[in-house]
Amino acid sequence: MDLSAVGNDVERVVATEEQLKAKIKELAQRVDEDYRDRDLLLVGVLKGAVMAMADLARALQRHVEMDWMAVSSYGSGTKSSGVVRILKDLDRDITGREVLIVEDIVDSGLTLSWLKANLESRGAKSVEILAILRKPDAAKVDVPVKYVGFEIPSDFVVGYGLDFNELYRNLPFIGVLAKHKYT
Ligand code: IMP
Ligand code: MG
Repeated sequence: MDLSAVGNDVERVVATEEQLKAKIKELAQRVDEDYRDRDLLLVGVLKGAVMAMADLARALQRHVEMDWMAVSSYGSGTKSSGVVRILKDLDRDITGREVLIVEDIVDSGLTLSWLKANLESRGAKSVEILAILRKPDAAKVDVPVKYVGFEIPSDFVVGYGLDFNELYRNLPFIGVLAKHKYT
């Protein structure tokens, strides 16, 4: 779906399709290097990380396993609640595994700090985080994100997996949702 297909719903583009592609390639190269001769299990956080996961996995020059979790933290609004619930758990045991969580965005950081602790408590050998976007508020919660695509302002964004009420995930770019859509 192109920008023209969403009319004035998107106020401004923060990452174009080309920029995302280049960034994923760059992140994949770092992951390839850092995990050389190591195990690697990508854990995608549904549904926002679907695009990032699909692109990252294909940009990696190595074998990789993929598993998925679904957690809820937002409901239908635009503010994080801090309450995390597992809607879908991993299919496999991760004891001794080297886990890389793939996320769309770190906003308050509440979801990821909870998820990282949760996966560590299952006996993973390591748990690192890759997020396509990071907002300034993430600094308030001390969640170490090893790989970050883009630092963006606090505006609510959609596209490349990110939704507003389940829509806009299929935009190939990331843009700021126009205020008139949610106020
Ligand atoms: P956090 O717990 O505040 O870091 O946010 C967790 C989740 O909220 C993310 O994984 C996203 O699914 C969602 N989220 C946060 N900011 C945005 C946004 O700007 N657009 C769409 N979803 C967002
Ligand atoms: Mg998400």
